[in-house]
Amino acid sequence: MRYCTLLLLLMCATAHAQLNKLNRFFYHRGAITDNIGCYFAERPVVNLIPVRKVAENQAVVKFMIPKAKVSSAEARAAIDRINKEGRITHNAPGSQQLNQTQVTPWYKIQVAEVTTPIDGIMFQFSFDPRKVRITYATFNSIQQQPGVVFQLHHLDVLEQLKDHNSAPHRLAKGTRIVIDQGHGGEDSGAVGHFNIREKDIAYQVGAKVAQHLQHAGFTVATTRAHDVFVPLDERTTFANEWGADLFVSIHANSSPRPTTAGIETYFLNLPATVDVYTANHHNMSQQRQTWRDEQSAILAQNVHQLTLNSIHRNYPNVPDLKVKKAISQVLLGTNMPSVLIELGFLSNEQEAIRLNTTTYQDTLARGICDGITQYCAKYA
Ligand SMILES: [Zn+2]
Repeated sequence: MRYCTLLLLLMCATAHAQLNKLNRFFYHRGAITDNIGCYFAERPVVNLIPVRKVAENQAVVKFMIPKAKVSSAEARAAIDRINKEGRITHNAPGSQQLNQTQVTPWYKIQVAEVTTPIDGIMFQFSFDPRKVRITYATFNSIQQQPGVVFQLHHLDVLEQLKDHNSAPHRLAKGTRIVIDQGHGGEDSGAVGHFNIREKDIAYQVGAKVAQHLQHAGFTVATTRAHDVFVPLDERTTFANEWGADLFVSIHANSSPRPTTAGIETYFLNLPATVDVYTANHHNMSQQRQTWRDEQSAILAQNVHQLTLNSIHRNYPNVPDLKVKKAISQVLLGTNMPSVLIELGFLSNEQEAIRLNTTTYQDTLARGICDGITQYCAKYA
């Protein structure tokens, strides 16, 4: 009897431990690739229910994440939104540059908590296999959040961009740069010594970078004009639809260790994706992704090095935390070379004080601008 109770308790405990919570959900619409990024409490297991071709222009693929539940109101709202939008149509991505204007329904997404065929969350994609290729990958993000990303690649657009994928295009004339000022509004980001908030530092430095870049002749947009909350997927969708050539996201760091200090720069490192529809095999999306990742690495190196150089002239002891590959929620959604710079640690008293001064911010902004300019000069 005691044994049975123990067994029952154990079974209950295991069942609860296995419940995987979906905490955050993003739908990054893009000119080339749309990304659906989901963040879970534990690394999700993805069961693929193979592609069923219904007609020449319609196939259905389902993914099951077993033992998963939506666990936040925010994620639930994002899922409701994507379900309600129903059939997603695209106003031909990059239409201005590519001279393509037709609106074509390309895919439809449904996300639901289901009990059959098994308990969990189901993602269903109905798509036109002539126009869309689907891939997915599981990963751990910068903050070690496990997740999965489903990617819908637009084959017509990739076909048209084919010749551009070996080198950046348009960098010579009117390069478009998005400066993404992290956090904002109710999302303060990290809050450090003296209540210095990441959202304010990111906003102030971002505004200075944008100003420098404009003076240098670039076409610049920022993702927020003041202290307002902007969802991550709106930031990336804006960059993608505006046809940005480069995307630079600005953040400040925090660590449980009060002595940790320094500058680090990230670029996207998406693990190899799994292709779910091989009948119409296409490697253009892989080429595009490889090109984007390579360029992001070079951009990160330039931005990081020149920011450090600029800082080291007056603050020689600021640690170089190097350029790192990682998954970040915002970088996951962009179609162009993209980097994320962490300006310093608000959890470090000395660095928090510096980050809050105009002089230090100016020095950072000048360095970031020089890094972007150096990267662009290579391709001008
Ligand atoms: Zn941040």
